[in-house]
Amino acid sequence: MGERPRLLLATRNAKKLAELQRILDSSLGVARIELVGLADLEPYHEVPETGLTFGENALLKAREGCRYTGLPTVADDSGLAVDALGGMPGVFSARWSGRHGDDQANLDLLLAQLGDVPDEHRSASFVCAAALVLPGGKEHLVEGRQSGRLLRAGRGSGGFGYDPIFVGDGQQSTNAELSPAEKDAISHRGKAFRLMAKVISKIVI
Ligand code: IMP
Repeated sequence: MGERPRLLLATRNAKKLAELQRILDSSLGVARIELVGLADLEPYHEVPETGLTFGENALLKAREGCRYTGLPTVADDSGLAVDALGGMPGVFSARWSGRHGDDQANLDLLLAQLGDVPDEHRSASFVCAAALVLPGGKEHLVEGRQSGRLLRAGRGSGGFGYDPIFVGDGQQSTNAELSPAEKDAISHRGKAFRLMAKVISKIVI
């Protein structure tokens, strides 16, 4: 058997790596592709996420990964778009409170901002863009979305980020009350990664 093609997922998040590997394995047949993350490679200078859309940021990260490693590279960018806030926090979801990655502070600030927003206007969507950049320069961009509404207080201890206050359309539970497999089946990232697995199956192997 020849060597499996290698694909970089430009992330340091081990959970994202495992999620994309599971989705690739189930859509392509087990272990057709060797997925590697940034922690598996020589470090390179990572550009800041300066894009104003999820797609721009995903492309920035995928182009950079492909340029430095020569590997076909996938990158994703995601966040929460709140309708009453004109789509914000959007690409600023991870740093909405001013402290990058402080999930509790980000969630508390968002709840305070939406204090007077009535239930019928508390709609929001999680959005995930995933980009694939190939060494020859070809680029592909897909997007996944989970629409729902925001509660006034958090429920559940699973997931991360804004999951405790988000109830997806057709759901009773918050995303933080779902098992990882239940969340993957309906989440923005699960949808984007499944679309990306189809693109990969056509052009990488
Ligand atoms: P990233 O681009 O996947 O690192 O996500 C950026 C930010 O968006 C995270 O820090 C969270 O605040 C928010 N976010 C993205 N995906 C999710 C999710 O599945 N649940 C809750 N919050 C999320």
